[in-house]
Amino acid sequence: MRWCTYDANDGRGWRLGSVDTDDAITPASRFGSLLELIDATAGGIEIPLAPQDPSNDSFRIDTVRLGAPIPEPRRNVLCIGKNYRDHAAEFAGSGFDNSRSTAIPEAPIVFTKFPSAVVGPNAVVDLLPEATSCVDYEAELAVIIGKGGRDIDQASAMDHVWGYTIINDVTARDRQARHKQWLLGKTLDGFCPMGPFAVTADELDLADTVITCHVNGELRQHANTADLIFGVPELIATISAGFTLKSGDIIATGTPAGVGIGFDPPRFLRPGDEVAITIKPIGTLTNVFR
Ligand code: MG
Repeated sequence: MRWCTYDANDGRGWRLGSVDTDDAITPASRFGSLLELIDATAGGIEIPLAPQDPSNDSFRIDTVRLGAPIPEPRRNVLCIGKNYRDHAAEFAGSGFDNSRSTAIPEAPIVFTKFPSAVVGPNAVVDLLPEATSCVDYEAELAVIIGKGGRDIDQASAMDHVWGYTIINDVTARDRQARHKQWLLGKTLDGFCPMGPFAVTADELDLADTVITCHVNGELRQHANTADLIFGVPELIATISAGFTLKSGDIIATGTPAGVGIGFDPPRFLRPGDEVAITIKPIGTLTNVFR
C-alpha cells in the first residue's frame, strides 16, 4: 500500500492519504500523519493492506501539494555511506573522499542528516552558493522503521521494517572534504528531499529493485538494491547495537555509482537542474535546484 502526505490548501495543513494505482488519493480517516499510522502498526494495530474501496472523497493527486511522507522526522535521518561497490570506487577516486580508507568499507559507514534538511517532492532546493559550490545528488532507497528495538539481530531485522521511501542525499562535496566529516556537507537546509510516497514493506523486493536517477532527463544512476554491500538486515543490526531504534526512524541505504563527482571533471548541480529519482514501487522523486 502507498501512502502520501499532502496539503489540500484548505487550512488544515499536512494530512495523510492512501494512493491507489491511478494516483488518486483517499484521505486516511483513522490517522492524522504517517508517523501516527506507523506507531499504531508498531503497536500491533492491523492496517488493511488491500487498497481501500474507491470512495466519493478520493481526489486526483495533482489537485494537492505533496509533502515528504514524514515531513518532520522526530530524529535525524540515518544515512549509510559508500554502500555500493561501484560508487565506493568512484568516491575513493574522486579526490573528495578524505577518509583515506580502502574503497570498500569493512563495516557500514553511518552518518545523519538533521530533520530540518527534509523537503518534499517538487520542492525547489536552494543551492546555497554562500556555503558551497559543489552540490551533488545521491539517489537512495530509504527504510522506515516500524517496531523499534535495540540489539536487533539480522534474522529478525525485517520484522522492524514498516516500509520504504526515496531520499535524495544531497551533498556539498567541498564541505564534506574540507571538514573531514560528513555532517556539514550533508545536512544543509533542503538537502534531504524525500518522497513522493511511502510504501509498506510488502510492496518492495530488496533482492531485486531498480533505482534510477536522471538529471535534466539524462540517465546518471542505474542500479539494483541487490548490489548493496551491507543489506538492510545488517544495517539494522549494526545501527541498533546499543542504540534504540524507534518507530518512524529513517535509514537511507546509500547511493550507487553515477553521482556528479564520478565524472571527470565533476558535474555538480547548477541552477535550474532537475533531479528525478525513480524506484518503481514507490514512484519518482523530482526536485529542481536553484
Ligand atoms: Mg548517500
